[in-house]
Amino acid sequence: MQRLGRKVLFGHVLLLAAGALVGWLYDQVVVGLLVAALLGLGWQLRQLLKFEQALRDKHFGRLRYGDGIWSQLYSRFNYQRSQSKQNKKNYRQLVKEVRKSTNAMPDGGIILNSDFEIVLCNKAAQRVAGFRRRQDRGQRVDNILRDPTFGAYLKKGKFDTGIEIRSPIVEGAWLHCRIVPYGADQLLLLIQDVTERRRLAAMRRDFVANASHELRSPLTVVSGYLDTLAEEENIPANWKRPLAQMQIQTGRMNKIVAELLELSRLESAGEARRDEIVDVCGLLAATKKSLAGQDAIPQVVVDCNSRARLQGSTAEIESVITNLLSNAVRHTKEDGTITMSWTSDEAGATLTVTDTGIGIEPEYIPRLTERFFRVDPGRSREGGGVGLGLAIVKHILERHGATLHIESSPGSGSSFQCAFPAERIAAAPPVPITGSTVS
Ligand code: ADP
Repeated sequence: MQRLGRKVLFGHVLLLAAGALVGWLYDQVVVGLLVAALLGLGWQLRQLLKFEQALRDKHFGRLRYGDGIWSQLYSRFNYQRSQSKQNKKNYRQLVKEVRKSTNAMPDGGIILNSDFEIVLCNKAAQRVAGFRRRQDRGQRVDNILRDPTFGAYLKKGKFDTGIEIRSPIVEGAWLHCRIVPYGADQLLLLIQDVTERRRLAAMRRDFVANASHELRSPLTVVSGYLDTLAEEENIPANWKRPLAQMQIQTGRMNKIVAELLELSRLESAGEARRDEIVDVCGLLAATKKSLAGQDAIPQVVVDCNSRARLQGSTAEIESVITNLLSNAVRHTKEDGTITMSWTSDEAGATLTVTDTGIGIEPEYIPRLTERFFRVDPGRSREGGGVGLGLAIVKHILERHGATLHIESSPGSGSSFQCAFPAERIAAAPPVPITGSTVS
């Protein structure tokens, strides 16, 4: 038994003994014991009532007094109370610090519940996107950010990437919005002002487009003269080789300029058109046909497993197929095989170009769609590549809401998969009824 317990027990035994002794003096031991027990009980009750009163009045000063187990109880209670006061103070301080730091953030931060209702937001959210910290609490966030793209983003519920929308409060400003789920059902919406970044990107785009445009006319003149010179019969024999090389190089420059202009056009255009229906299977067959007559190229197989058609730009999808096929042809030996397939399911449709060629080292795969990136620049140049083909493919796919997935293993071949979302798939045409007409 603990020391305090022994002390309490001893005190009570002493009281009962005193009661018994006094009772014995008057020949009333039981009465004496009873009176002593009642006195002990009464005192305990008084202490209990005092404690209860102090709790009710929140007047804890008087709890300093007491005796035995009560004094211990009071001091422990007072200690716990002061501890909890200190904890509360620390907690308040912490909340203050968190609030101060989130308010110092340059980007807007908004905490949303699972119904996309605003729970809290920082000062930057007010400055960048016009959120009002008190009034907007409990409102659905798409009541404040009314851009349809943002509404579609919430509806889709896929938050692994962000989106860019126009600012609801500043004309010409752009915001990058990204939702990050956390905790059980909480979401954090991060809003960043990307106006400056977009302006710089537009400047770079314009510069490349203008420079390419300016280069086009002189290049056309130079190529024209070179072609004329090459056709000249009286030209000295030692000029023939340099002339042929100049023709190859101007041809290459023309290709670079044309592809840079095409990239600029794709970058500045928005979403791809939806009013045109693309017959992907037909395009695959036509692209295969265009290779007919070329020597020393691998076997090309078209595998059309779906009749699904695409809402998009025929010219652009054709450019995707041509780029992927010409890459596959350039990187596959003539005894290899290239398979172009078109499949669909309820999630969308996929265009795949697979080859049994040289393959690509895994570390290069994430860089393939960068402009002018080539795994082997010398080899690519020899084959007529300028390093812009896959950048064009990526942009065209983005405009169609599609993604490019590349799988490759060095020495075994590569597979380029273009996955189109279901919302871009047009209803398949009815199967033509075949039969003979009896006249
Ligand atoms: P290029 O004009 O050089 O072909 P691309 O942008 O089309 O430029 O391709 C970038 C690089 O990706 C190529 O230089 C090549 O190294 C690599 N590549 C593309 N397709 C294939 C493929 N099917 N097999 C192997 N490497 C490929």
